[in-house]
Amino acid sequence: MTEILQAVRGMNDVLPEQSSAWQQLERVARETLAQYGYREIRLPLLERTELFKRSIGEFTDIVEKEMYTFEDRGGDSLTLRPEATAGIVRAAISNGLLHNQRQKVWCMGPMFRYERPQKGRYRQFHQIDAEALGFPGPDVDAELILMTARMWRRLGLRGLRLNLNSLGTAESRAVYRARLVDYFRAHASVLDADSARRLDGNPLRILDSKNPAMAEVVAGAPSITDHLDPESAEHFATLQAQLSAAGVEFVVNPRLVRGLDYYSRTVFEWVTTDLGSQDAVCSGGRYDGLVAQLGGEPAPAIGWALGEERIVELMRLQGLVGNEGRPDVYLVLAGAAADAVGLGLAERLRDAGRGLRVETNCGGGSFKSQLKRADKSGARYAVIVGDDEVAKRVAAVKSLRGEGEQREIAFDDLAVELSRALEPETA
Ligand code: ATP
Ligand code: MG
Repeated sequence: MTEILQAVRGMNDVLPEQSSAWQQLERVARETLAQYGYREIRLPLLERTELFKRSIGEFTDIVEKEMYTFEDRGGDSLTLRPEATAGIVRAAISNGLLHNQRQKVWCMGPMFRYERPQKGRYRQFHQIDAEALGFPGPDVDAELILMTARMWRRLGLRGLRLNLNSLGTAESRAVYRARLVDYFRAHASVLDADSARRLDGNPLRILDSKNPAMAEVVAGAPSITDHLDPESAEHFATLQAQLSAAGVEFVVNPRLVRGLDYYSRTVFEWVTTDLGSQDAVCSGGRYDGLVAQLGGEPAPAIGWALGEERIVELMRLQGLVGNEGRPDVYLVLAGAAADAVGLGLAERLRDAGRGLRVETNCGGGSFKSQLKRADKSGARYAVIVGDDEVAKRVAAVKSLRGEGEQREIAFDDLAVELSRALEPETA
């Protein structure tokens, strides 16, 4: 027997049964991003490896052990993008998008990280990503966060909490970093192997440690909040005031440091208690130094990325998945006369009004099996046409969600009647 090939570990198929939630999320995101003036940018999945080394940082988990890197046939080292910000900044610089201009952009698509696959953590996963390039904030910081809050509201998501912190500038962070290293050196005996390794390369990441044995030493560490330069402190205070004024609740979490090197000032993370240990659904931060670091004219910037798999799972758990991408109507055709008018009738329904979604029963079958398919299609109504109906030029319209009686509607009125019946759902 021929062996059946499986997908690569940590890389998922999104099956038709599951795609409604994805479409719903992506539609809400597209609409919300447009409401705030963000425009789509589409970029290659492959970049030169150097881009990620120079932006994300050599001592981060991503660059140290998570990248899919290979040599192409011409001998160049390429990497499947593990995140979107570096590529967006690269594109903005190399296309001159920041010459006397600012940009508000978004993109969505797959990211690749060689992580240990588990629930909510995959090797190919998907992000929706928004970036504001050339904006010093804190107004744009607040607005980027308001935009995420609006998406959660529109999706109906409950129980998301916002963690907020400021990392200061590169200079103030360097001072803090030195104090942190001194502190952890003085407690070297309690550091686990991971943390000991991070002490030189990326000591702030030790604050992120989830090891209970280290909880006490982490809790006693100096706080970054006490080491902010005056401008960063002011920036952070204004951001908090603007969020409060807009009614967005948040918690200031001085241990929130984020895993990437390029952040400065504002960092934030939306978390949930519904997903176990993979609790971050959206995270972001300011990266005022990155554009210059990658060879552009200095330009302040900030962005966020949300994890689609985690949001989709939350939508499913909270019962928020609608009928996106499913037909409105399933057309049941019983008999030769019905078959003869079926395709034409379906076309008329698709032409009308907003353009109904009509799945025609193709390939015949008994009345009973066609009704079963109608149910399975997820359509809200079955429109049933038999030879008697053709003679009378009417169709029987049956709700597939148990509401109302079966009704007879003339062919000529079908489009209008169905559009009206479907209205509440599509408003
Ligand atoms: P985590 O702490 O969970 O590893 P992260 O800080 O590495 O997250 P970011 O690089 O900021 O995550 O990516 C933004 C979002 O993308 C995360 O909040 C999360 O929702 C999602 N995400 C990150 N890595 C993965 C993954 N391997 N699989 C699925 N989703 C992911
Ligand atoms: Mg990670």
